[in-house]
Amino acid sequence: MQTPTTWIKSAATLTPSGFVEHATVQVASGQVVGVWAEGEAPAPQSADQVLDLGAQLVLPGFVNTHTHAAMNLLRGFSDDLPLDPWLKEHVYPAEARLQPGDIGWGTKAALLEMIASGITTFVDMYFALDEVAAATRESGIRGVLGRGLVTVAGRGQEALAEACDFHRRMQGSADGRITTWLAPHAPYTTTPEFLEEVGQAARALGTGVHIHLSETTREVADCQAQYGVSPFGLMRKVGLDRQPLLAAHAVHLTDDDLASFAEWKPGIAHNPISNLKMGCGMAPVAQLLALDMPLGLGTDGVASANSLDFFLTMKASIWGARGITGDPSWPNAEQILRAASWGGARAVGLDQVTGAIAPGLAADLIGVSLTGAGLEPVHDRTSALVYSATAAAVKTVLVNGKLVYQDGAFLTLDQEAILAHAAEISRRLVAVN
Ligand SMILES: [Zn+2]
Repeated sequence: MQTPTTWIKSAATLTPSGFVEHATVQVASGQVVGVWAEGEAPAPQSADQVLDLGAQLVLPGFVNTHTHAAMNLLRGFSDDLPLDPWLKEHVYPAEARLQPGDIGWGTKAALLEMIASGITTFVDMYFALDEVAAATRESGIRGVLGRGLVTVAGRGQEALAEACDFHRRMQGSADGRITTWLAPHAPYTTTPEFLEEVGQAARALGTGVHIHLSETTREVADCQAQYGVSPFGLMRKVGLDRQPLLAAHAVHLTDDDLASFAEWKPGIAHNPISNLKMGCGMAPVAQLLALDMPLGLGTDGVASANSLDFFLTMKASIWGARGITGDPSWPNAEQILRAASWGGARAVGLDQVTGAIAPGLAADLIGVSLTGAGLEPVHDRTSALVYSATAAAVKTVLVNGKLVYQDGAFLTLDQEAILAHAAEISRRLVAVN
């Protein structure tokens, strides 16, 4: 029997070699089979589905390389504070009031926002991972999930054992949409000995490690004082350069760090909105791109970034980078649009799975409309996508070839119920702050 095929027609489709005008994307078994130019596509069979997106552009879905989805519950409740008191006096006490089930609802609220923004893969670091996995499964999108590991309060070993167990149970579940990495929180909330163990466990499991690294000047100075190396230097010292590594932030890099990147290519999750809003600084994006680092974009959690709009993340990334370099041509819009999808997939080792529209990759696709006030005239599509568009331009989202969002309607998640539950929980979490 012939595999059912879906033909996705659009005004243009973005492939690794550029836009194909009036293209048709052929999808079967959740994967892209081919991208055909106008008049070249084979005729659909009677059992095939045709999804005609009209004037929309089809792009690869975005990869959000760093977030704490459930922190959606804490949007805007303690802004404009330095990182340390913000975390210790506000976020941690609120998180301590989380009850079973809350993280699932918070994650689903974030998934609504991510889907509507064109994000088809998210990389999460949080707790109660079974709730996060259930929400991911229900949403229909792709998740790289990691349980946050800290050694404070002596719970490191127990948490690492739980994380390894979660990996064994969940790796490749939900039709291959869920992958799991180990996620030690940061060098300042763990010990070097523990990080070494995490690396050994990751290598034994054949997975990667996701960690916050070099977010603030203080973190780098403390690490230098305590261990004689930068946070990235510490990763090499404890052997965490021997399996895939995803470093969230990488804002403050030393000359030694940059020199080491000639040989070592850890994935970088660049979170410009969170970093700039928290006054932490800005990752040297232009330099990292010049070094051909696997650089993806991330939103970080909503508690720090306030929004999961990936178009705003692209803008912040390019504005912040140019604020450092003073060069209005580097990085350019095309580089940042590519970082938002393919760069992110590469940063989390999924570039053989998603991140581009090419035969053999998953059909993780978004349809974007560049019509209407605020977007027209469109002289250059890439310019309009990066500099003018917001999440509101996203009209269609497919993951593994299945529609999850169309014209404002969520096809997998119950928006009304999720937002009502999340609002109730969030009031309880912040009630006594
Ligand atoms: Zn984070």
